[in-house]
Amino acid sequence: MYQHYARPGQDADGEEPGHAVAILSVQGSAPGVHIVDVNTDYQRLWGGSREEWLGAAPIIVQQEAANRQIFDQLHDALNPLLNDAESFFEGIGGLEVNRRHDGSRRYVEWRITAMGVRHNDTITLVLTQRNVTEQMEKEAQLERLATTDMLTGLVNRAQFDAVLKSEVNRQHRYARPLSLIMLDLDYFKQINDRHGHDVGDQVLVALADLLKCTLRKADCCARWGGEEFMLLAPETSLEQAVRLANKIRDAIKHTAFPIQGSVTASFGVVEVHSQDSVKSLMERVDNALYLAKEEGRDQVSTGGLLPSAKQA
Ligand code: GH3
Ligand code: MG
Ligand code: MG
Repeated sequence: MYQHYARPGQDADGEEPGHAVAILSVQGSAPGVHIVDVNTDYQRLWGGSREEWLGAAPIIVQQEAANRQIFDQLHDALNPLLNDAESFFEGIGGLEVNRRHDGSRRYVEWRITAMGVRHNDTITLVLTQRNVTEQMEKEAQLERLATTDMLTGLVNRAQFDAVLKSEVNRQHRYARPLSLIMLDLDYFKQINDRHGHDVGDQVLVALADLLKCTLRKADCCARWGGEEFMLLAPETSLEQAVRLANKIRDAIKHTAFPIQGSVTASFGVVEVHSQDSVKSLMERVDNALYLAKEEGRDQVSTGGLLPSAKQA
């Protein structure tokens, strides 16, 4: 059983530690790993004094079961070395997520390597842990920036392309229903012309908020460009997608946008078929949207595959 002296997140002055180091000892004849020494960064990372840590079990991840799993993995990796002094231990490592006491996440990169030579049946190891939270958060933020539309906060076109490609491949493999909806605001140029570009932007933001509220978690909603939006709905048949598009169409019509008079949108809806490529799919949905515009706007078209199901 590993003892737990963890008081995570007690970095005394709020400063994040550099390299937390613990010297560990494993005995071939006895189970468990215990600490022989720790540096001050280790104490700052996990709390407790050096004296408290000596002889205790080390901590890599706060969650006890996960911590135990790491040390089981370490024992497995050390086994050859315990039986044969000539064998080589190349070390183990990973990245763990721990929670600070305020609930925020702390990412810790760790590595355990062998130190020096084996003495009798005792192996001395070095555990190093480095707080990489800032780095991970920066990377996550960069990824968010690269995949998000700045104005609306929806997924951007490039990211939607990637999601579409992968969902179309999935559809080809598992033949699950998958539908695509393309939405284009009607006479949006007039909104800009009458109220100015900034108000036009506010309408786009309000529409994006409406879409976020209407859609399921599994649906992917993107700003395709200008006043055009795409919705990809997994596990959704053509009929269901037409119903969804009409629901959104109705909601748009009855939403108070920051302009006088109502805003309407036209929709093209298609279901992905096994013979569809991303390109053919885009052509079909574009064509369906074109028909919705041609037939008078403020409606949903499937490009002729179903009655266009306009609601009163
Ligand atoms: P239709 O019903 O045929 O779709 O007519 P429309 O006026 O909506 O279509 P059109 O393609 O003629 O005009 C789209 C307008 O959208 C023109 C462009 O200035 C405006 N637009 C594109 N991107 C943005 C944006 O980011 N912000 C704002 N405010 N307007 C934009
Ligand atoms: Mg357009
Ligand atoms: Mg338009």
